[in-house]
Amino acid sequence: MKQNKCSFCEKPEDATNILIHGINAFICDDCIDRAHEILHGEIHNKKNRKHKLSFANIPKPEAIKLVLDNYVIGQEAAKKYLSVAVYNHYKRILQPFDGNDIEIEKSNVIMVGETGTGKTLLAQTIAKILKVPFTIVDATVLTEAGYVGEDVESILSRLLQVADYDIASAELGIVFIDELDKIARKSDNPSITRDVSGEGVQQAMLKLLEGTVVNVPPQGGRKHPEQKFIQVNTKNILFICGGAFDGIEKKIANRLNTRAIGYGTVNDKNKIDKNNLMQYVSHVDLKSYGLIPEIIGRLPVLTWLQPLDSAALRRILTEPKNAIIKQYQKLFAIDRINLEFDDDVLDYIVDKSIEFKLGARGLRSICENIMTDAMFEAPSKQEKKLRITLKYAEEKINRLTADKLHVA
Ligand code: ADP
Repeated sequence: MKQNKCSFCEKPEDATNILIHGINAFICDDCIDRAHEILHGEIHNKKNRKHKLSFANIPKPEAIKLVLDNYVIGQEAAKKYLSVAVYNHYKRILQPFDGNDIEIEKSNVIMVGETGTGKTLLAQTIAKILKVPFTIVDATVLTEAGYVGEDVESILSRLLQVADYDIASAELGIVFIDELDKIARKSDNPSITRDVSGEGVQQAMLKLLEGTVVNVPPQGGRKHPEQKFIQVNTKNILFICGGAFDGIEKKIANRLNTRAIGYGTVNDKNKIDKNNLMQYVSHVDLKSYGLIPEIIGRLPVLTWLQPLDSAALRRILTEPKNAIIKQYQKLFAIDRINLEFDDDVLDYIVDKSIEFKLGARGLRSICENIMTDAMFEAPSKQEKKLRITLKYAEEKINRLTADKLHVA
């Protein structure tokens, strides 16, 4: 009787461990193994190609800013500084080796601005533009090695996870470290007692920021001896730090006052825009706030974000590419319902957000409270048009008190 053969390598069934029958073909276990290897290799290469950076796919600063404009309202200074810093960072990585020893230094960034003004959004958008692995970590969970909490190396575990453990691509990623102000030294003078949560963490973070090979526990958390480490070089990882630095305006004001009296003229002092002191923030103020000079030195690009006024909040509702109002309209459009908001409803949402002191973060929860009933009822109704009026919005919000508005 004629024996079945592998359709790929023609091995007879007898010579295989298993021969799988298809409709018109056969495949042996060896060929399955080989195909599996090829498949894996190809997927891996594809991933690498995806993260392969070249000058051709790095947008210029002006183009980066234009994309940021689509997502982030206002914050012109921060957008400009970030665009330049990111562009320079990638120029540095991609610079051809030309034999001279001018080394472009790393341009880690620090953004200072009230919470909810768009720091995270800026960093996220940058990562989206550049298609590199990006992760957000909260500085408050980090502690010095040996204390309860996470080692600073866990920052890189997360980056590795997002990069699917592709070390090469993680090494070109961006890390956003939020709430850096929370690890500030509590007093300006180095204290005699150890400051576990503050200075120690800053010290531990130093090496990471400047560029070094770090042993990273792949699963994050605490390092323990049985765990295998992955070595990650942080030389080309861009760190963007953010913090509200509550009360830093006082330090800025103090500094500006002393300066104006010491060196400047009365004119200089009058030129200071007292309503927006944040724009004068300098590295000196970060030091008086409690960042150690070494950390400040490794965050050479310092920029600031403005508090959002009602005009900015109003624009945030409708203008960004994924503006909240557009999101609701899309949700309803899926049920073929045309959703409209009266203009005075949008003003009302902004006013409430300011009244409850929730800023941009509040816009979403206020909208959610206005829209929940409609989202519950509308899909099962015949009506294909829904108009949200001021009366309707007020009714929904008046049932609530500020503490019921949970802020994401
Ligand atoms: P931060 O990191 O400064 O605390 P976020 O970037 O997390 O603030 O902002 C919280 C939310 O508020 C964002 O998801 C975004 O929807 C909105 N938001 C804040 N600032 C802006 C802005 N300038 N432009 C557009 N949306 C903003």
